Amino acid sequence: MTTISANLQAVRARIAETLRQAERAPGDAILLAVSKTWPAEALREAAACGQKDFGENYLQEALTKQLALQDLDLVWHFIGPLQSNKTTPIAQNFQWVHGVDRLKIAQRLSAARGEMGPGVPPLQVCLQVNVSGEASKSGVAPEEVPELARTVASLPHLSLRGLMAIPEPTPDLALLRSRFALLRGLLRELNAGGLSLDTLSMGMSADLEPALLEGATIVRVGSAIFGERHSRESRVESREQ
Ligand SMILES: *Cc1c(COP(=O)(O)O)cnc(C)c1O
Repeated sequence: MTTISANLQAVRARIAETLRQAERAPGDAILLAVSKTWPAEALREAAACGQKDFGENYLQEALTKQLALQDLDLVWHFIGPLQSNKTTPIAQNFQWVHGVDRLKIAQRLSAARGEMGPGVPPLQVCLQVNVSGEASKSGVAPEEVPELARTVASLPHLSLRGLMAIPEPTPDLALLRSRFALLRGLLRELNAGGLSLDTLSMGMSADLEPALLEGATIVRVGSAIFGERHSRESRVESREQ
């Protein structure tokens, strides 16, 4: 068995065990394989083990892999920072975008998706929320979520699915769980206010258990599947800016 296949099995087992502990149904959370910095062949290997959803952070890198893997039926999620000059290719080459945190970006994504013509399903989006207060720079502040959610939900070519967060890493498990709980509470509020959102995108290699215990429906897992990333990541990022 290859490393990727063994790692995938181990991650699936962690997810299954935690869902069981949380008394949630076995299929209640999607595993998103975060494949940034890894070559198309690594993704192909994961796909051969039944992995369908892949998350990428850098546009050019993702487009290259999509081309190399176009014979496979995969679901592509853009999970990186969103720059307004890249909204068109992102809206047109991904099924999901997780990091929407401003109206202008959402409007541009919707318009670009609309340009693809009738019959194309709406782009599935999550709003990224800053659940760690001043410690974190990205994401919309919790108190601004309701208004942004209402507006984004009304855009014609987007389907607002839920919320996403990347809490600051901390060894304090109770604090970490409270960050995930905050996101879950926000989703509940939005639904009580008339939206019908079903997605909490939260939890990564190191913290998927607390995230699932707090209701994560998509966990975004990179290094536990593909291995540790090295300095290449920062080089990819700077090259694309
Ligand atoms: C890289 C990344 C992940 C995966 O992180 P790991 O710790 O490797 O599991 C998840 N979410 C986002 C937004 C990322 O950029």
